[in-house]
Amino acid sequence: MTDPVIIVGASMGGLRVAEALRRAGYTGPITAFGDEPYPPYNRPPLSKEVLASDVSLEAVQFPQRDATADVNWVLNTRIERTDLASNSLTDEHGHSHTFSALIIATGIRSKRAEWANPVMTGRHAVRSLDDAIALRAALNPGTKVVVYGAGFIGCETAATARKLGCDVTIVAPGVEPIARYLGLDFAQWIRAAHDAHGVQFRMQSRIDNTIGDDRITGVVLDDGSTLECDVLIEAIGSIPNVEWLAGNDLDLSDGVLTNTAMQAVRTDGTVVTNVFALGDVARFPNALFDDEPRRVEHWNIPTDTAKRVAEVAAAQLAGSDSVDEIVAKRFAPVPSFWSDQYDIHMLAYGIVGLADRSEMLHNTFDDDEFCVGYYRGDELVGVCGVGMRNVVMGYRAKVGSSA
Ligand SMILES: Cc1cc2nc3c(=O)[nH]c(=O)nc-3n(C[C@H](O)[C@H](O)[C@H](O)COP(=O)(O)OP(=O)(O)OC[C@H]3O[C@@H](n4cnc5c(N)ncnc54)[C@H](O)[C@@H]3O)c2cc1C
Repeated sequence: MTDPVIIVGASMGGLRVAEALRRAGYTGPITAFGDEPYPPYNRPPLSKEVLASDVSLEAVQFPQRDATADVNWVLNTRIERTDLASNSLTDEHGHSHTFSALIIATGIRSKRAEWANPVMTGRHAVRSLDDAIALRAALNPGTKVVVYGAGFIGCETAATARKLGCDVTIVAPGVEPIARYLGLDFAQWIRAAHDAHGVQFRMQSRIDNTIGDDRITGVVLDDGSTLECDVLIEAIGSIPNVEWLAGNDLDLSDGVLTNTAMQAVRTDGTVVTNVFALGDVARFPNALFDDEPRRVEHWNIPTDTAKRVAEVAAAQLAGSDSVDEIVAKRFAPVPSFWSDQYDIHMLAYGIVGLADRSEMLHNTFDDDEFCVGYYRGDELVGVCGVGMRNVVMGYRAKVGSSA
């Protein structure tokens, strides 16, 4: 019997690659392992509307299509080890599984701070449905919330907690929220929006320790001052889930390094042709920008990289003569991202973090709606707008080209 294609990570990327494999004509067996108890679900609502109301699987689950009805979803099962020399992996129960091709879709997890005080009750992160269910139960009117980190997830959860009537303070080391991504002027606009909704800020500050015995009652900042809190939400970054791939000489220095065909690359630069990575965990070169491999934690990337994996893997598994041609094809997905905070709807294309300058393209920061372009030299590397959805979308095709 043919060994299955094994997907590790039963989330959006895992689902999308199973669908794309079927669309690409692969009819053989597919097994997908996921360590969560749930079938694939959508994460963005976990810090937004779902956190503000109904946190349940029904509210976020992706619909399953007929084409993937025969996929063997093995949930609640963590893959612990992989041996690429024998095309096999081992699950947490000690069972081993062989594969014809391996697709790595294990994403990332929330980075957690390490403090001397060991108390964990009252400390939260938002990555999974279970995280959001636990956090939702703790957010009540009047609850004192400290959000540690002022990136997108920190700002979104702060906005949602305010909506639920909590007292919210954001503590973060940066100068302004999301400044590293959006630039200072845009960041000041975001901060003003949070100020207007009553969020307190302690920027250019770090949390040195927590206070509380059975549960958290406060935090100690690096200037020695303290803040009372019932809930601490840590939104300080992410860690790629790659430990299960150790010992195979893969380049795992920041996620899984791949070539433009999303095939895994070893530390010596050689390619493992039947092992692929996609989504948040993959570090791949995007021809839209340059040859530099990067991980991109944006919602469209699991889908776009899944299509690329599927076209290469399906051709390989079918023994097609055109595999080399398909592998050599240009791969240049346009990253896209959105964020909702209060009634602010932001939409971005490209990688604005690559820019060396930004320029207001439409309206001004005095308006409720505007659109900013981000440039590396003359090249438009990103665009981000508040409102003006159609205008922002109009720049999508221009990302990666010269102004
Ligand atoms: C709260 C939140 C809000 C977001 N909001 C936005 C937004 O507004 N806009 C936007 O563009 N993007 C947003 N994102 C990002 C977007 O959701 C991600 O880019 C996307 O979920 C990545 O999908 P993935 O399949 O690559 O990884 P993941 O969704 O992380 O899935 C990986 C899966 O693999 C499982 N896994 C890990 N290790 C193992 C193992 N060893 N064995 C078995 N299973 C394993 C994990 O538990 C997980 O289920 C948000 C993310 C979060 C968490």
